[in-house]
Amino acid sequence: MKKVYLDNASTTALRPEVIQEMTKVLTEDYGNPSSTHSLGRAAKNILELSRKAIAKNLGATAQEIIFTSCGTEANNWILRSAVKDLKVKRIITSKIEHHAVLHTALVLEKEFGIQIDYVAIKPNGEIDITNLAELLSHETKTLVSLMHVNNETGTILDLERVGRICKEHSALFHSDMVQSVGKTAIDLQKLSVDFIVASAHKFHGPKGVGFAFIRKNSGLQPLFFGGEQEKGLRAGTEALHQIAGMAKALELSYTKLEMERSHILQLKNYLILELEIEFPSFSINGGADGFYTVLNILLPFAADKTAMILFHLDMKGIAVSRGSACQSGSVKPSHVLAEILSDEDLKKPSLRISFSHYNTREDINLLIDALKTI
Ligand code: PLP
Repeated sequence: MKKVYLDNASTTALRPEVIQEMTKVLTEDYGNPSSTHSLGRAAKNILELSRKAIAKNLGATAQEIIFTSCGTEANNWILRSAVKDLKVKRIITSKIEHHAVLHTALVLEKEFGIQIDYVAIKPNGEIDITNLAELLSHETKTLVSLMHVNNETGTILDLERVGRICKEHSALFHSDMVQSVGKTAIDLQKLSVDFIVASAHKFHGPKGVGFAFIRKNSGLQPLFFGGEQEKGLRAGTEALHQIAGMAKALELSYTKLEMERSHILQLKNYLILELEIEFPSFSINGGADGFYTVLNILLPFAADKTAMILFHLDMKGIAVSRGSACQSGSVKPSHVLAEILSDEDLKKPSLRISFSHYNTREDINLLIDALKTI
């Protein structure tokens, strides 16, 4: 049976060149980057070249890129240190953020007694930026934490506008860019953002590695303590094979961006067209102009089909997600869809279909065929 993988917002397949690079580093470059002998120096060289390559792709300087074990760690670190060390008294975020931000904010509220404000969400799932400006008119030391591309609906944040508003109000701006780094051009020199977070496994790199962009002189302090790695900001011997794999993955993603984006867009438009033919009353959660890699649809099926639909597709070799991948096994409705759908629609089956350049028209046909048998 052909496997159809349409769950790329959850994680992506490694590119062969990335596996090659990682295997080479694991085999030959096993030195510790902190050692002063030649094997150590060779490892250090790979580490710093990886950092430079990542920084260059995003318009950052190498010293602003700090490697972490994943996106979740980087989000936790930035939010926690902003409160603990930068004396932030309020976090403005939204109810549609990833739990790596939402749950961290709640813990910080309890632990430090800070204020959490949630910016309003428009009916189409977008952040209400006018409401953000209103919230920022109260003068409190504030961190705004809003994601670039929503992992469930693909809703896009206007980073330039939000950055400008934050600057006008002297608020710090953190953006979880786990879904957009490697998939759209990002120029951190031009954007007014203080902190961003990315994760390699979302752009065809390995799991267990990510990075934070920490703007120069931000004053952020470490999450945990130990050696001098990552300028003392993230102690622990560097996972060199992961980091080199991530740098390779990002490089390839940006080299092939236009070609792969146009392939994916064609597939997404083809899927929408087929859905219009086969299920004319389907609708797109979050609207039609979301990010090109994600399509979240509400299917015109009875609510009693909701529980079995993923299982049914899985039996046919098709991997998609219901809401967020991280909770696809849970019975709770998606916290993101809960913000934009009516109670009645929330009970009906919604599917998140997320694409990569490895997908084909045949994948879409197989998905449509499988949906027709439900
Ligand atoms: N932020 C967003 C928007 C995500 O989609 C994810 C992964 O699902 C994460 C954070 C967590 O990243 P990681 O798996 O690297 O911890």
